[in-house]
Formats: sequence, structure tokens, C-alpha cells
Amino acid sequence: MSAPDRPLSAAPADPSRQERGDPAQYTSPGQPLISFILRPFWLPLLLLLGVGVSVLVAVDRNARSAALVSEAQARLTLITMLLRDTADLERGQRGYVITGMQSFLQPYTNTKKIFPGHIEALRKSSVTDQQRVDLNRVALLIGAWDRQAALPEIAARRESLDAAVKLVSDGSGKRTLDEARQTLNAMQSRENARLNAALLSSTATLRNVRAVTLLGLLLSVLLLILTAIRAARTVAGNVQDVTARARQMAAGDYDDRLPPTPLLELRELGQQFQIMAGAVKEREQALRTTNTALERSNRELEQFAYVASHDLQEPLRTIGSYTELLSKRYTGQLDERADQYIAFTISATQRLKYLIQDLLAYSRVRQSGRNFSAVNTAEIVAQVLDDLQLQIQGAEVRVESMPVVWGNPELLRHVFLNLIGNALKFRAEGRPAHVSVSAQDDGTHWTVCVHDNGIGIEPQYHDRIFGVFQRLHGPSEYEGSGIGLAVTRTAVEQHGGTLSLNSVLGQGSVFSFTVPHAPASLGRSSNPLLPAGAEGKLEPDPPSTAPF
Ligand code: ADP
Repeated sequence: MSAPDRPLSAAPADPSRQERGDPAQYTSPGQPLISFILRPFWLPLLLLLGVGVSVLVAVDRNARSAALVSEAQARLTLITMLLRDTADLERGQRGYVITGMQSFLQPYTNTKKIFPGHIEALRKSSVTDQQRVDLNRVALLIGAWDRQAALPEIAARRESLDAAVKLVSDGSGKRTLDEARQTLNAMQSRENARLNAALLSSTATLRNVRAVTLLGLLLSVLLLILTAIRAARTVAGNVQDVTARARQMAAGDYDDRLPPTPLLELRELGQQFQIMAGAVKEREQALRTTNTALERSNRELEQFAYVASHDLQEPLRTIGSYTELLSKRYTGQLDERADQYIAFTISATQRLKYLIQDLLAYSRVRQSGRNFSAVNTAEIVAQVLDDLQLQIQGAEVRVESMPVVWGNPELLRHVFLNLIGNALKFRAEGRPAHVSVSAQDDGTHWTVCVHDNGIGIEPQYHDRIFGVFQRLHGPSEYEGSGIGLAVTRTAVEQHGGTLSLNSVLGQGSVFSFTVPHAPASLGRSSNPLLPAGAEGKLEPDPPSTAPF
């Protein structure tokens, strides 16, 4: 999906969606999710890398400063030693000249031995020309002092004090030595300056690196957070759009499109969504057409069944009346076979009459509208039992507390009539029939059960018997049309309920159906099974026998 082919049907409501949904923003071919999420992280990562490199450079520079510091310190130590050597040479030589005692000459002779070593060490650690020039100058001056002043004065003292004093008072030796000392002091000052500069540079480097690291880290963390928030918001927003679109599709809106997205995967998902929406729309259209055709043909069929059975009643009544007349007037007057034929005709006419009546009932039940009201099932059951008085003979029927439900009284009458009628009809030989009618509140609806101890039904027929004209016995065994349970199931389904069967062959059956509660606004009496103010009137019949 590149730029949207047509504008969105509904403008995005929230600003973040507007932000994502600007079509001009996404004219590019789209970005894979992984690159969309990871690419913006380059900048903060580069920044972090920069911080790392600057820390490394700073550490290196600091190490160099530290080396400079330690070298300068070593040179300073050597210069201090040379100053001390100069002082020792002078002290030893002067002491001998003044006292003439050999022991005073000791510092002079000792220092002369170690002095070249110190000069050599300082030369090795010198790094600038200035240092080398200064050092050479010190070595030359000390050498000159020794040759031109110290040694001649020592030799003169061996002869006499006066000869030595005469040479010392010349002052040239002292000047040479002072000059050497001055040079050493100048060297010391320069080394101190170098040392301070190295220390200052190291401190400045540390300060700078600390500032750069802190700033870089702060900036990187900020960028990382912003990048993560942006990626999360975009992905979450786009996923929300897909969810909203899926919701729209579920609600039957197939034309709207997914808002534009920069994410390649979501664009592809959007395309698939459109294809799916198109397919669902087409199928729905086809289903609707088929449904309309089916509904029409169903209506026509039902009308045909109704008209046919209704119109058949008239000629059937005529046949019935005349065969009964024939039977009344001519039974015993014709031969035995003729009497038998008349009896067969009467019985067949009777069966056809019931069949047509049942078909009409089925057709009416299917066409009945949802004109529901609060129905007192205790009253309906009482009427049904009244109608079934003939069939009840020899049976024991127990009705428990029955509820007020929300339904169509006519349909519910069919339901009870068929279920109780069958329970009485399919009684087992050799034991008295026991039938019980009860109801149980399942929280959202009532479950009503009609329980018998009749012949029972084999499991493989538990579904089949609910079809039209499905019977498990011939008319000679049990009379009936095979429509009763179909009518019952349709009537229960008109109430949004279900009809189910639990039966064991030879032991009995329980037919249960669900039916909605009467609305709470109708109020309830203390007995939840009875409507408000109806107590006493709807009390169930006492059981006619003990429970079986
Ligand atoms: P009909 O009762 O007219 O035969 P129904 O549709 O009422 O038709 O029932 C279909 C079949 O289901 C019956 O023929 C019978 O075989 C079986 N049946 C229904 N109710 C019971 C029952 N209570 N006990 C045993 N069999 C039953």
C-alpha cells in the first residue's frame, strides 16, 4: 500500500493518529518494521561511540602527561643531586684549604667519583636541546673549576696556607662554581615549569573528558528514550489502527481502509485486510441472496402446506361424514368384508384428519410471530392435562412448581401438549405410567423437564426423532403423525431456547427445553416461581403419587 488510493472515509480522531495518518508523509515504498525500529537508534549509538572514543583519547593523553610528570620529577631529583654534589665538592675542597687536614678533603674526593655518574644519568633523561646544552655547560664549568681552581689550591695548600690563600683570593674558582650553580638553578626552574605544565594539562584533560562524557551520555540516553518512545508509539498506534479496522470489519464495514502507515509489514497486512474484506463482502452478498431465495421458497412452501392442509380438511370432512353415515346405516346389512372396508376407511380418514391437523399446527408454529408476554406455565400445564384426561387414565402425573416465563402461550401449549402427550402415549407395558413435569432456574433461563418411565429411545435415534414425519413405531403400535416433536422443537427455538433428550431404552425419557425468564420489571413474589400477587393461585398440584 503506497499512498492511499482514496481519502479515508472517517478522519482520524486522535492527534497521534493524525500524525501517523498524513498521506503525504508515507508516499515512500515503506520501511520494514525491524529497520523502522532499529534505524533511529544509530544516532544515540554513534554518540555513545563518540563518548567512548573521546574517553580513550583522554586516557591516552593523561597517560602521556603522567609520563612527562614522572620524567620531569626524575630530572628534578638529578638536578637536586648535582646541586648537592657541587656543594659537597666546594665544602670538601674549602675545608682542606682552611685546615690542611686530609680528612676534610673526603667529601671532595667522594663526590668527584659519583659526579660523572649523575651527569650521565641526567643526560640520558634529557629530552630537549636546552637541557643538554645546560648540562654540558654545568659539566664544563665544574670540570674547569676543578682543573683551574680546586686542584691548584689543594696543591698550593700542601706547600703552605699562604700560597693557597693567595690563589683562593683570586676569586676565579668561586665565580666558576657560582656560574655552575646558577645554571643548575635555572635548569631546576625550567623543570618545575615543565612539571606544572604537565600537571595542568592532565587536570584539564580530565575535566574536559568528564564534561564530554557526561554530556554525551545524557544526550545519548535522551535520544534513546525519545527514539524508543517514537517507535513504540508508531507501532502501537498502527496496531491500534489494525485492531480498529478489524472491529469495523466485524461490524460489517468492509469499505474503509487502514490509515497510511510507514511500516511495510502493516501495509501488507492492510492489503490482505482489504482482500479479505472484499472476499467476505462478496460471500456475504452471495449468502444474502441465497438466504432471500431460501426464505422466499420457505414462505411459499409453508403457505403451500398451510393452504393444502387447510383445503384438504373440507373434502376430508365430507369423506369422514359420509363413511360414518355408511357405517351407521349399513353395518350388518352388507357382508362382513364390506363392514371391514368401511371400518378401514373410517380409521384412515381419522388418521388423515390428525395428520392434516398436525401439519397445520406445524405450519402455524413456524409462522407465529414473537408476540411474547409473561406466561404462567402452571396454568398452561393444567389446561393441557385437562385436554389429555383420556390419555391420563391409568397413569400418575406429578407437576412440580412451575414458573412464569417470557413467551408465546400458544406455542408453549403446543410444547407441553406434545411432550406430556408423548410421555403418556409411549408408556411401557407391565408398569403403570409415571410422568412428572418440573422446572429449574439456570440463572439466565428456565429449564423445564418432562420425565416419563416409558419405553425409552435408543441413543441412535435421539436426533432423528426431532425431524418431520420421523417415527420409530408403526401406527398399529402407537398412533401419531411424527410431527409432534418437530413442532415442539420449532416452538422452543422460536423462544430462543433448545430442546434436548436424555433417554434409556426400556427405562424412560426426559425431554428438557429452555425458555427465557419473564422480565424482572414484572416483579416477583416471595415464591420466585410465581408472579407478584399470584401466590396461592398458582400453587402446584400436589403429587398424585410418590416420585418414581
Ligand atoms: P408421534 O408422537 O406423532 O409419533 P413425535 O414427533 O411426537 O411423533 O415423536 C416422534 C417419535 O419419537 C415417536 O414416534 C416415538 O417413536 C418417539 N418418541 C417421542 N416421545 C417419546 C417418549 N416420551 N418415549 C418414547 N419415544 C418417544
